[in-house]
Amino acid sequence: MHVVIFLMILPVLMITSFPMQQSDRYESLRKRMVSMQIADRGIRNPLVLDAMRKVPRHLFVPPEYRDEAYNDYPLPIGYGQTISQPFIVAYMTEFLKPARSMKALEIGTGSGYQAAVLAEIVEKVYTIEIVKELAMESARRLRDLGYDNVICKHGDGYQGWPEHGPFDLVIVTAAAESIPQPLIDQLADNGRLVIPVGKPSAVQELILIEKRNGKINRRRLTFVRFVPFIRTET
Ligand code: SAH
Repeated sequence: MHVVIFLMILPVLMITSFPMQQSDRYESLRKRMVSMQIADRGIRNPLVLDAMRKVPRHLFVPPEYRDEAYNDYPLPIGYGQTISQPFIVAYMTEFLKPARSMKALEIGTGSGYQAAVLAEIVEKVYTIEIVKELAMESARRLRDLGYDNVICKHGDGYQGWPEHGPFDLVIVTAAAESIPQPLIDQLADNGRLVIPVGKPSAVQELILIEKRNGKINRRRLTFVRFVPFIRTET
């Protein structure tokens, strides 16, 4: 009798426990990613490490890449665009020195992953994406995941988002040949901007801009490879 009842509820148990096991698996992959790819490579800010431990990166990639989401490389997200390698996301976020009370602007929403990482730390994230389909997909994804402190917009990010500036942090996740002046103008005092600068088909330099008492300080951080910054307006 007991065996029969058990056999009857077994399929129910299997169905209900399956998603749980899956999310546990992704959580352990995510913890390993943070420890081996990020903390072991020198990222120290606990806010950045905690944020990367929280954001479910596998939900920001196309379903066929879900099992690769926590690997040490970028992945395609459609429309010729990519979600950055986890370490690069952590590295750029660390140099922004994000803190709770801050307001951030991101150019190049893509999958929405970088925006979500920032949104775990700062008060509000404004993000702009030029590919309409990606802008719509990432806005929906961020909303469904409960990131209601991320405000998404479709358009060319070159002009920034002056209505909501100045920003404490600005991050550009596409490579520009020069730094768009409106983004520097919309940086708050003591604000920081991180942007890959260089030719689209080459290796680019990641540049950190700091604004202090209206003065601009420029520092080269490392070499990177990003998709190009696209322009629709001139
Ligand atoms: N931050 C993203 C990575 C996106 S790749 C993530 O976490 O997934 C860079 C993105 O910048 C692409 O989606 C590309 O369409 C977008 N992009 C390129 N030029 C842009 C521009 N001028 N304004 C806004 N977005 C732009």
